[in-house]
Amino acid sequence: QLDWNGKKVTVAGLGVSGIPAARVLHGLGALVTVVNDGDDERSRAQAAELEAEGVTVRLGDGATLPSGTELIVTAPGWRPDKPLFTAAAEAGVEIWGDVELAWRLRGPGAAPWLAVTGTNGKTTTVRMLASILEAAGLRTAAVGNIGVSLLDAVLGDEPYDVLAVELSSYQLHWAPSVRAHSAAVLNLAPDHLDWHGSMEAYAADKGRIYEGNQVACVYNVADGATEDLVREADVEEGCRAIGFTLGAPGPSQLGVVEGILVDRAFVPNRQKNAQELAEVADVQPPAPHNIANALAAAALARAFGVEAKAVRDGLRAFRPDPHRIELVEEIGGVTYVDDSKATNTHAAEASLAAYDPIVWIAGGLAKGATFDELVQKSAKRLRGAVLIGADRALIREALARHAPEVPVVDLDRTDTGAMSEAVREAAGLARPGDTVLLAPACASMDMFTNYNKRGEAFADAVRALAATGDA
Ligand code: ADP
Repeated sequence: QLDWNGKKVTVAGLGVSGIPAARVLHGLGALVTVVNDGDDERSRAQAAELEAEGVTVRLGDGATLPSGTELIVTAPGWRPDKPLFTAAAEAGVEIWGDVELAWRLRGPGAAPWLAVTGTNGKTTTVRMLASILEAAGLRTAAVGNIGVSLLDAVLGDEPYDVLAVELSSYQLHWAPSVRAHSAAVLNLAPDHLDWHGSMEAYAADKGRIYEGNQVACVYNVADGATEDLVREADVEEGCRAIGFTLGAPGPSQLGVVEGILVDRAFVPNRQKNAQELAEVADVQPPAPHNIANALAAAALARAFGVEAKAVRDGLRAFRPDPHRIELVEEIGGVTYVDDSKATNTHAAEASLAAYDPIVWIAGGLAKGATFDELVQKSAKRLRGAVLIGADRALIREALARHAPEVPVVDLDRTDTGAMSEAVREAAGLARPGDTVLLAPACASMDMFTNYNKRGEAFADAVRALAATGDA
């Protein structure tokens, strides 16, 4: 255990991770200074509260390293090239993120971590994993972006047997000593490259999740980059590389055989060379990318010693979060599906692969993405497309290049009300048996507060259509 008494700690960022970190460190006896770039009304109120508790706060100056700083604890979003960190490196001061702090504050005998990262599917997989662990009778929580925060899980009164932990590439960057029981990288596609500096740096940060794994490094057989990361990782002796695949599994893999999720990695006795876990139909929704998430979750649970039946029960009990390939309504034989959370092309590609034929509603903020590959891969399944949002021209041009025969309705609108017009247009293009799919492949902030609001607008419009336009 570290001696925090009188240790000068600088917390970078007043925010969801910074404020609790400052409180915890102050409570341990550290001399805490919070530095924050912003100096607005909200941060002043937060600062006043913290100062009343004995924490020093410097607003409007996140760049200068407070003198005597012995350790920096940073919000994960702070970019590594910030002047504060350059100054820290020159002064030989260590930098931890929120995850590193939680890891270091774990008590003796603390619950091991089963960790998940990847460009897409993290939240879903972690929640599936927690559902499986619960079905096995283990005390657990899905920790990370949603639900319980890591610091609460580690320091709270609730006793856990094991934690299902979602880790972003930012968090991994700042978590040098975290050692998971087992970990999975679901997939690797370009994302957040401005923050990390390059695809190589992004992959290297994701790969940190395998460092020091004790039992299993779970990788995606269809995504060779994830297997490369396992190969490069320094793991505990006896730790195994375990693949997951949508095809038939090889040895040390989990996969799918005739609609059954099958484990060929953690097989109890030698006579048997495969263990059936669950049916594809047990996974909601049974879209290919989601089966992949289920296999990754199953692999981590099996690495932890969970029996097959609990995998099946846990997957059956799992319900997806809203706006992630959520079935909204069926109207006149047309199915309406909300995947508003598909905020990048990699995610949209996954849901477009799950349906056929599709009337696709897309558009929003492209964040520098290109759409040629996405359109090429999905063109054959498109009945039509309805485009909304600021960067819709990029998608329209990609459709013109690679799917010129697909009818496109280009709604020249970026107001919130555009969604009901988009749904009506999509309904006009759809035939019975089709799926109208909101998978924008873009961020929502040009039209909506966030992807939740975008998904709700879609669902509202679909329900309005059901009420008026049915039959
Ligand atoms: P994350 O926590 O990584 O953002 P989510 O589980 O919230 O992931 O899913 C985000 C989006 O990515 C959803 O729109 C979903 O349809 C898509 N998605 C989920 N799993 C995968 C996967 N394995 N591969 C590609 N896309 C996925």
